[in-house]
Amino acid sequence: MKKIVILGSTGSVGTNALRVIAKEIGAFRVVGLTAHSNVRLLAAQAKRFRPRLLALGDASRYNELKRALKKPQKVLKGIEGISEVASMKEADIVLVAISGTSAILPLISAIRAKKQIALANKESIVSAGKIIMNMARSRNVKIIPVDSEHNSIFQCINERDKRDINKIFLMGTGGPLKNISRNIFDKLKRSSILAHPVWKMGKKISVDSATMMNKGLEVIEASHLFNADVSKIEILLHPEAVIHSMIEFADGNIIANLFYPDMKLPIFHALNYPERRASRLPRVDFSKLKNVSFQIPDRRKFPSLGLCYKVAKAGGTYPACLNSANEQAVGLYLEKKLNLTGIVDIVKKVLSRHKNIAQPSLDEILYVDKWAKEEVNKLSSLLQAR
Ligand code: NDP
Ligand code: MG
Repeated sequence: MKKIVILGSTGSVGTNALRVIAKEIGAFRVVGLTAHSNVRLLAAQAKRFRPRLLALGDASRYNELKRALKKPQKVLKGIEGISEVASMKEADIVLVAISGTSAILPLISAIRAKKQIALANKESIVSAGKIIMNMARSRNVKIIPVDSEHNSIFQCINERDKRDINKIFLMGTGGPLKNISRNIFDKLKRSSILAHPVWKMGKKISVDSATMMNKGLEVIEASHLFNADVSKIEILLHPEAVIHSMIEFADGNIIANLFYPDMKLPIFHALNYPERRASRLPRVDFSKLKNVSFQIPDRRKFPSLGLCYKVAKAGGTYPACLNSANEQAVGLYLEKKLNLTGIVDIVKKVLSRHKNIAQPSLDEILYVDKWAKEEVNKLSSLLQAR
């Protein structure tokens, strides 16, 4: 029986993972769960899965969680507490499903403890990919991507020689605004922005899908996970979302990976890796698939894409700066303090004020994370004051 820790168990990926685990009776045991502030759901999950350890990021709600637990249970708090759960002795696999750069320290803690990682969080890799991947390589820690496209690329490449890869096609649906004119982006209700045509996800990634920043971040994520130059990674829109990646090899052959678009499939694969167990998850029904289409994304309509390639090529702390500024700007958008098109505008401004550090240490990346978020707040309050 594999013992599992889920960091971010109350989120979209976290709850999907618990759904997968609940159906796999006897295959997994949940030993640790963490959340930020969703006390009610974490307490309900604790009651059902009986993990040995819990942690809550928001320390101010610690007592509330203690009271909500039906049976006395060990609870840790703050990012230190989450990092402790990430490295707990009995865990075999740690699923990192926290959103944003708050995942960096717990992920590093799990790598240091030599746990097998199932990685959903992308912001940690975009910001600190070089450091994290080197750390994992030197400790022989396997990182199995859960982000659907990356899980798909991982399955296509498997143990093949990476030098033979000519191109990685990173697929995307195009998000909820693919067929909508940019002129009206800022007039759309937040609820329609959050309604993705294919995937039901957390708020931050849903906004990123609308601006297509998500796809841009995924290009950077793929470059680190698969040690590939960004010039070899091409975004291809495929609204039917059954093909999740394709790899073109040096000789012109292309290998594609297909699965029904449901996050439970990559989660199931990553948690079972290297085994391939039978599942009752939904299958692609080719009799219902009327069309399979591909398009190149419109980089003028979605300037986030060009920006991501640019910072990826520049390297250093630029990707961390872009990622953190975006994270903060998306938060302001959700609080109705910024328009949708304002997100990328403000990210560009913060990048133009940033002094790049070519070979940053982890501390320097964490400093840039804080700096970029503060800079977004400053710029947005200036905008509002006008
Ligand atoms: P959600 O917002 O739904 O969930 C985030 C989880 O992280 C929650 O458990 C939340 O706790 C916790 N969390 C949030 N902030 C903090 C913090 N500061 N410290 C500790 N824990 C925190 O996100 P998703 O599940 O949508 O996404 C998670 C990650 O996976 C993201 O990086 C995303 O890009 C990636 N991903 C998601 C996909 C999806 O289908 N959703 C697909 C591919 C990748 P609480 O509930 O208490 O706030
Ligand atoms: Mg994805």
